[in-house]
Amino acid sequence: KTALNLSGVTKTYNAGTPAEIRVLRGLNLNVAAGEVVAMVAPSGSGKSTLLHIAGLLDTLDEGKVEIAGTDATGMKDKARTLLRRSTVGFVYQFHHLLPEFSASENIELPQRAAGVSASAARARAEELLATVGLSSRADHRPGELSGGEQQRVAFCRALANGPALLLADEPTGNLDPTTSDQVFEALMTLVRKTGMSALIATHNLELAARMDRMVRLEDGVIVEL
Ligand code: ADP
Ligand code: ADP
Repeated sequence: KTALNLSGVTKTYNAGTPAEIRVLRGLNLNVAAGEVVAMVAPSGSGKSTLLHIAGLLDTLDEGKVEIAGTDATGMKDKARTLLRRSTVGFVYQFHHLLPEFSASENIELPQRAAGVSASAARARAEELLATVGLSSRADHRPGELSGGEQQRVAFCRALANGPALLLADEPTGNLDPTTSDQVFEALMTLVRKTGMSALIATHNLELAARMDRMVRLEDGVIVEL
């Protein structure tokens, strides 16, 4: 079973104008269920475009995108949003936590929006926070946490509703090397524990080497490393 399948994906910006940029050129990428894939991509190579297409936030010109066995190609906006919410979790370089809510509340909110009861959402938040070593920070607001702690909370929030696929864009890019290492380990622990699949873009080759497989985005296609 595959978590993510992109086949023959093309994406061109400003088509037919002098500013035309062909970002993705018949790109193929497969992430198997439970697999963690590192994507090394130089700046400007189309990494964000690829992650947005994979996460059903952006449309493609040609090709196919399939998530958790469901073909999303040609789906209407509403169906795509529903599929995204039930299957994909996102993390970015910056945590984007809500500053006026506690760590636990930040993890409870997406669950409440998905119809989970208050007590079950709190229990799930506590379990996730324990997995990343932050039980004692459950009731702290983001402003009271270190950068590495904030990022670990953001990972918990991304996994709160049990998505099949995690898409991460430089999840440790904003942290110093030591913190980056710890935060990466926390992310891997979460991913392995939940058995989810992940596509993680990073510039850090050392971290990339610790994932199941490494690929490179180059000239609009995926090259296996
Ligand atoms: P990366 O994340 O690897 O830096 P992006 O996917 O953001 O790359 O962008 C790849 C290329 O496409 C860049 O040259 C960028 O300027 C261009 N691009 C990205 N988004 C748009 C857009 N909405 N309109 C026009 N060009 C874009
Ligand atoms: P909500 O359920 O709160 O309405 P969405 O379904 O709109 O959220 O988005 C789901 C995920 O996609 C969130 O993690 C959000 O951070 C991310 N997201 C939504 N829109 C964008 C965007 N334009 N660029 C990057 N990420 C986005």
